[in-house]
Amino acid sequence: MNIHEYQAKAVLKEFGVPVSAGVPVFKADQAEAAAKQLPGPLYVVKSQIHAGGRGKGKFKEAAAGEKGGVRLAKSIAQATQFAHEMLGHTLVTIQTGPAGKQVNRLYIEDGSDIEKEFYFSILVDRVTARVSFVASTEGGVNIEDVAHNTPELIQTISVDPATGVMPHHGRSVAKALGLSGDQAKQVEKVVTHLYTAFVAKDMDMLEINPLIVTKQGQIKCLDAKMSFDGNALYRHPDIFALRDESEEDAKEIEASKYDLNYITLDGTIGCMVNGAGLAMATMDIIKLYGAAPANFLDVGGGATKEKVTAAFKIITADENVKGILVNIFGGIMRCDVIAEGVIAAVKDVGLTVPLVVRLEGTNVELGKKILNESGLNVLSANDLDDAAQKIVAAVKAVKGSK
Ligand code: GDP
Ligand code: MG
Repeated sequence: MNIHEYQAKAVLKEFGVPVSAGVPVFKADQAEAAAKQLPGPLYVVKSQIHAGGRGKGKFKEAAAGEKGGVRLAKSIAQATQFAHEMLGHTLVTIQTGPAGKQVNRLYIEDGSDIEKEFYFSILVDRVTARVSFVASTEGGVNIEDVAHNTPELIQTISVDPATGVMPHHGRSVAKALGLSGDQAKQVEKVVTHLYTAFVAKDMDMLEINPLIVTKQGQIKCLDAKMSFDGNALYRHPDIFALRDESEEDAKEIEASKYDLNYITLDGTIGCMVNGAGLAMATMDIIKLYGAAPANFLDVGGGATKEKVTAAFKIITADENVKGILVNIFGGIMRCDVIAEGVIAAVKDVGLTVPLVVRLEGTNVELGKKILNESGLNVLSANDLDDAAQKIVAAVKAVKGSK
């Protein structure tokens, strides 16, 4: 789960990390009062969307003005004007895709005088199976470009979970950033606090780009991108409360209500599968036969009929879905429950695309019988290979006839 920059900065503040003073703004007429709470004379008006690259982004609507999604204002009046221009308009950045994202929240910050911008992030490195720090002198720019063009300017420092963060980690980061003396000491402290926050809140990514040193010699986090391990959110109701559903895929929100493991993908074949491994195999075999999955969906082990019905409805509501493949291996899950769930969903919302069902395992005969007697136009399959070929062929045939 991702949160907004202003929320991430509030979390960082709790852990003693230096960030600018700021006030979130939800309506343009709150902007003036918000800016008045800050010392000035420089204000930063920042679009709050779950995507980076805001500074270099562009608004779709002319009414939002020529400037990007992060604007420096030299007076309260100018900050207020920017707020009026930006709120409610659609910002397109390299991370939003061409559709962009509507800006519904702003964060007005006390502007900093920047001496130098750095890059710093913390992530879970699968290769070393450790938390790693990534540091670069090249901050404020797209880190992917730095990684591509000048990889030697990026340094990775991993932390042994048995010791946690140690003073030498902070010193290594300071060295990687080319800092010494008091600024190195500040960075060591910031790195320690960031690591503590990362572990305490079960984050899976924390990116500070830029980490800056101000003209007054202070180290500060000027931007913060924070994402959390979804499986650990039950331990953090305070973080879960920060969720902004308007930033998420509507189908994924619906799926999470039923505790389904669902992820939207960009193919055309909707998949309903039980077990993450079988779901991955199903996606692979669809690709093997020349099509692509529209989603990943694991209905889980002991899914109820209601859960299966909800899952099937989410798939059929997706207009990119041109065919559906149900692939169930009944272990704890019973095939008859799947059959009943599918039928209940079709009764409610209809079925306009081809459906291939492959059932195996517990109560398989009963499941097949229920489907056969339902009058539904189901293409049944004997095994996974057969099922994948059938759904890919059926989707291609529909396309061909159009
Ligand atoms: P992003 O474009 O979405 O990554 O948003 P950032 O929060 O990183 O802001 C983009 C850029 O705006 C930064 O790299 C800075 O160069 C600039 N910026 C942000 N805050 C300030 C500030 O307080 N003072 C100054 N001078 N520039 C700022
Ligand atoms: Mg940034």
